[in-house]
Amino acid sequence: MSGEGIGSPEVLDDVLAELRACRICRDAPLYGPPLPHEPRPVIQAQASARLLIASQAPGTRVHASGRPFTDRSGDRLRDWLGLDHAGFYDASRVAIVPMGHCFPGLDAKGGDLPPRRECAPAWRERVLGALPHIELVLVIGRYAQAWHLGPKAAADLTATVADWRNIFAGERKPRILPLPHPSWRNNGWLRKNPWFEAELVPVLQAEVARLVG
Ligand code: SF4
Repeated sequence: MSGEGIGSPEVLDDVLAELRACRICRDAPLYGPPLPHEPRPVIQAQASARLLIASQAPGTRVHASGRPFTDRSGDRLRDWLGLDHAGFYDASRVAIVPMGHCFPGLDAKGGDLPPRRECAPAWRERVLGALPHIELVLVIGRYAQAWHLGPKAAADLTATVADWRNIFAGERKPRILPLPHPSWRNNGWLRKNPWFEAELVPVLQAEVARLVG
């Protein structure tokens, strides 16, 4: 550690350097088999960021690019946020911190495995502790909702996202908005819950414009 104060860029730089060298899931996995590939931790963060995207884990495309949301999920998420590529990838304003930083591999049906359980306990508090200017956390999908809102929230994603007004208006600092995952796998969920794009997304875009625009 550099000995600089909490929230200084140097503290974050130290954490990111350690995180990017992490091999826990390859060399010393705690839950299940080792990662079937070399770790490639993906994160976007600078200490000045005001918006935090708490996401899930890289898929195959993001694993290949090394950059978060370089896939169709990212296109939809950028639409929801009202951000172009330049705004979305401006790390001085937008931090993207997944629950699992490395691509976890595929299941037998070709779907992405869940985020590695080793990752959040190893890194999340240190990374978030080095981001002192975050004002809004976008909590995407049930793994991030379990961490940021508790297991009850994660048990029923639809109920949690539908409760967004209460969650957003709550006492928590930074404030939180729960979102579904922007994956194409959720097209059916989006069709069944049109209030999400009609009511939540406009509020989301206004907040993002205020923090990032
Ligand atoms: S998923 Fe997280 S804990 Fe596992 S190797 Fe990657 S950075 Fe380390």
